[in-house]
Amino acid sequence: MDIFALLPLISAISVFSIGLFVFLREKDSKIHFTFFLHALAVTVWLFGTFMMFINTGDRELAIFWDRFVYVGVVFIPAFMYHFYLSLTGKKPDFLFYLGYVLAFLFLVASRTRYFVDDLFVYRWGVHTEARFLHTVFLVYFTAYVLIWFVKTYKHYKQLKSPALKQQTKYILLAFFVLIPIGSLGYLPAYGIPIFPFAYLGGVVFTVILAYAVLKHNLFNIKIIAIEVLTLSIWVFVLIRTLLSETAQEVIVNASLLLFLVISGVLLVHNVLKEVRMREEMERLADKLQSANIKLRKLDEAKSEFISIASHQLRAPLTAIKGYSSMLLEDAFGKMPPASKTPMERILQSSVRLIDLVGDFLNLGRIETGKLECHFKKVDLRKLIGSLVDDFKTTQTKGLKIDFEVSGSDNFIVTADGNKIRQVISNLIDNAIKYTPKGFVRIHLYRKNEEKIIVLEIRDSGIGMSKDTLARIFEKFTRARAGISQFYTEGVGMGLYIAKEIMRAHGGKIWSESDGEGKGSAFYISLPIDFIPPETPVAWKDNKNEA
Ligand code: ADP
Repeated sequence: MDIFALLPLISAISVFSIGLFVFLREKDSKIHFTFFLHALAVTVWLFGTFMMFINTGDRELAIFWDRFVYVGVVFIPAFMYHFYLSLTGKKPDFLFYLGYVLAFLFLVASRTRYFVDDLFVYRWGVHTEARFLHTVFLVYFTAYVLIWFVKTYKHYKQLKSPALKQQTKYILLAFFVLIPIGSLGYLPAYGIPIFPFAYLGGVVFTVILAYAVLKHNLFNIKIIAIEVLTLSIWVFVLIRTLLSETAQEVIVNASLLLFLVISGVLLVHNVLKEVRMREEMERLADKLQSANIKLRKLDEAKSEFISIASHQLRAPLTAIKGYSSMLLEDAFGKMPPASKTPMERILQSSVRLIDLVGDFLNLGRIETGKLECHFKKVDLRKLIGSLVDDFKTTQTKGLKIDFEVSGSDNFIVTADGNKIRQVISNLIDNAIKYTPKGFVRIHLYRKNEEKIIVLEIRDSGIGMSKDTLARIFEKFTRARAGISQFYTEGVGMGLYIAKEIMRAHGGKIWSESDGEGKGSAFYISLPIDFIPPETPVAWKDNKNEA
């Protein structure tokens, strides 16, 4: 037999085997099934070509087999498109139906004289001559193949999972080799005497896919390969057993067979379990990844919303604050004494609201990376002194508030004064808020050996459990006791923002407490020789960056 005739046969067997393997692996999977259909169509093409080659001597038979080829070939575009739809999980669309309708029409056409007729005789064999409808068919074939590549490539680009991406890459590559090389097989139909190496396309196609199957677990058919291997060993030993000549040989071979059957079953079972577990893990990892992406988008949208909303709230609130304070100062004429107290409440509430909105605004800026710090020399001692004076006059609980400075005279640091004031004010405010009676002690000192300045704010208030301590610097976290007993207006943002501000200053914030009811201490530390960045820093909470 001619070597050229063998090429399509080898190709046919390899394409059919890979198609069958894939199909057997998961009979219920649409992807596996449509791949099998495509492989079947290609097999018909290659097998028909083989039959034509071995019948070149008989003109009628050669024409018969070459027509037979088209039973498979006309379906290749439709099957490819179908395979693409299952691969991407898309629903059948217009092109899908059109593909199948055209395939059936060309199947009918290929039976007529207007598709192929007569024979070209070449040095290596024969080929039917293409007629008009064959050329129309080629337009359909080319269009679908191009659409397939463009769409599958787009799908490949959109894939997030690295494993799926690798697998799809090999599918693209395999088809890219099969279809263009295989299409050279059309040329002899137009009198171009190209050697039929086009039929080798099927072998390369199979080799690429087999590599992807083994290396990247494409179609998950590793397990079948192991099953086939195990089965062939059993058959081999079984034949040996049957062919044994002495009783002793029978016993040895039969025992070996028994051993191989048991270990083979165990092996396949274990591999199967492992494969299932890995599949499950891959599925979960994929799910997790897409959930993570969604969450991050949601988080960004939320921060953006908070920023915009807070900005819009600030202007009217500032107006309320301004007018109520002017009314209290009798700027629009004397105020009736009965209105004074309500007006003071309006003023206090608007100030609180402005602070709250400010916190939200800062939160939004932190999350979108737009919170900027403007660094200057700041005298911490002065800054804290004036804050403590303010709190002393405004607190109404009769708490004893002390401010002590030790270790040095120099408490000048490089910082954004407004932001540091916000942090410290928040800490003192908390200490007063969560202390029903007793004291709030503020202590500023230098630790020269560590080159830091430390501020300690200790109170005799409600204290914190270990569990609370661990969480208070997270966003929107409040202790249960904090919410229920004392203060209902906080939202648990202050310490989170404080932590972020301290981070931008190269400093730290932390807290200690001996337990609920035993008071708390909050600390911040700032490096003495902190060198701020040249430009105002904008930083982002990198916890959110997975
Ligand atoms: P807010 O005070 O608005 O709830 P913060 O972020 O400032 O938000 O504080 C978070 C939580 O930390 C508070 O809800 C409270 O449970 C706890 N906390 C803060 N400071 C103290 C303190 N001095 N004593 C006891 N608990 C405190």
